[in-house]
Order: sequence, then structure tokens, then C-alpha cells
Amino acid sequence: MALPKYKTSRANTHSRRANWKATAAQTVTCANCGAPTLPHMACPSCGSFRGRTYRSAIQPAHTK
Ligand SMILES: [Zn+2]
Repeated sequence: MALPKYKTSRANTHSRRANWKATAAQTVTCANCGAPTLPHMACPSCGSFRGRTYRSAIQPAHTK
């Protein structure tokens, strides 16, 4: 198995990791209430998805 011949320098490690960037999650607007919501997910504020309402999404545990 191939092994690296030299230790990767700190400058190379840091310049490689400088390109790791967090990207903001893409959101869509809920057709029911207009809140920003993740695509292909039930709306966290009203619980609707494609015309149906999912009861578990209406009151998540952390809002009680
Ligand atoms: Zn909604």
C-alpha cells in the first residue's frame, strides 16, 4: 500500500482547509404560510407539505 513520503506541511494543510466553507441551507417558501422551509420537507411552522398537513410537524417537542 502506498504511503506518503513526507509529512504534509502545516501551510499545505491550512491552505487546503481554508477552502472548506459552510454553505447556507437552501430554503423554499411554504405555499401555505409563506415561511422559509427546507425543500422536500414538511413546513416547520405550519406542518403542511404538498397540500397535506402532518400533525407531528404542527407542534414539535422543542416548541412546547
Ligand atoms: Zn408553512
